[in-house]
Amino acid sequence: MQQHLSDRINNLPISATLAMAAKARELKTEGKDIISLSLGEPDFNTPDFIKDAAKQAIDDNYNSYTPVNGYLELREAICRKFKRDNQLNYTPNQIVVSTGAKQAIANIAMVLLNPGDEVLLPAPYWVSYSAIATLAEATYKEIPSTIETDFKITPAQLEAAITPKTKLIFFNSPNNPSGTVYTESEYRALAKVLEAYPNIYILSDEIYEHINYGEPTFSFAAIENMYDRTITVNGVAKAFAMTGWRIGYMGAPEWIAKACTKMQGQITSGANCIAQRATITALDAPVSKIQFMVDEFYKRRDFVLDMIKNIEGFKANVPKGAFYVFPDVSYYFGKTIKGATINNASDLSMLLLEKANVATVTGDAFGAPDCIRISYAASTENLKEAFKRIGNLLNS
Ligand code: GLU
Repeated sequence: MQQHLSDRINNLPISATLAMAAKARELKTEGKDIISLSLGEPDFNTPDFIKDAAKQAIDDNYNSYTPVNGYLELREAICRKFKRDNQLNYTPNQIVVSTGAKQAIANIAMVLLNPGDEVLLPAPYWVSYSAIATLAEATYKEIPSTIETDFKITPAQLEAAITPKTKLIFFNSPNNPSGTVYTESEYRALAKVLEAYPNIYILSDEIYEHINYGEPTFSFAAIENMYDRTITVNGVAKAFAMTGWRIGYMGAPEWIAKACTKMQGQITSGANCIAQRATITALDAPVSKIQFMVDEFYKRRDFVLDMIKNIEGFKANVPKGAFYVFPDVSYYFGKTIKGATINNASDLSMLLLEKANVATVTGDAFGAPDCIRISYAASTENLKEAFKRIGNLLNS
């Protein structure tokens, strides 16, 4: 019956991160001892002070539809957060709360892009950016980078990629999957190029901002002449271990926020009421309350980098944020391991799943076909075991 489905869905790739997570879950249910390093999801529980706020919200009968763009109290809390952490001044009518940062990104693409518009994706990039651009009937162009430049693009590359059709560019720092963090001066150099193209909008995805290891993160909208055409996207999933609560948000020029509210009003309406109330508490709390998780990720990053050194043919950059390592594994292309010929990163990722019971995500989905993504949002014990298995398979 596939042919009865729309071209839209038939042409849409499945989310590689979610697909790998589902596959790992399925194999686990079949009784296989799988270590899942595929999904970018903190292995911590949501902190108690946030859970208490949610329980209170239930008792206080927060159970009705919320305003489509989110409770005013939450939008005010988001404005305080933007000011405190990012030196960004937004008013509540510039804020839209959504069901995850993913919906915020989809709203933005839907309201800004016309068929044939072009989206620029500095690669590697998160798997859903390209899919969302495609859903909005835009085309996308990757701007490649490699491990040699710490997966950063240069102003010259940006300049060369721009065409009269370019409408939107996605920045994401700290980056999923590479962990790369752009410094303020690197961002300013890219902004300098964009100054000459006032019709290009910038989506700055800052969902990993708090998960950084000493390299301060910088908000693109904090560049004075970029503020009016930058949409800052964030959410509570990663920093507060609230992935399943599904709360993301944006700070945007008011006309874009209004359009996103209109879009959301026809698709999902306001995000979950209990999760919104809990998010007020999360965002108003001092960042020091979540530092213990960041400290733990930092330790695991160093641990994983040490482990990777022992795996033949894996070449990794030093991630400055997020909780992924993204080794270049092209050393294996053309080789045969345990009867399987490895032609690309997908083959290697499959081999690791089938022969080492370790789930990772292929770099293809991130626009970096030489790499695989390994999430270290997992216990040290699991990480140790996973690298032991990978080593046993590949070093032999
Ligand atoms: N953003 C996370 C990841 O990259 C969660 C899964 C998803 O939505 O892609 O693993």
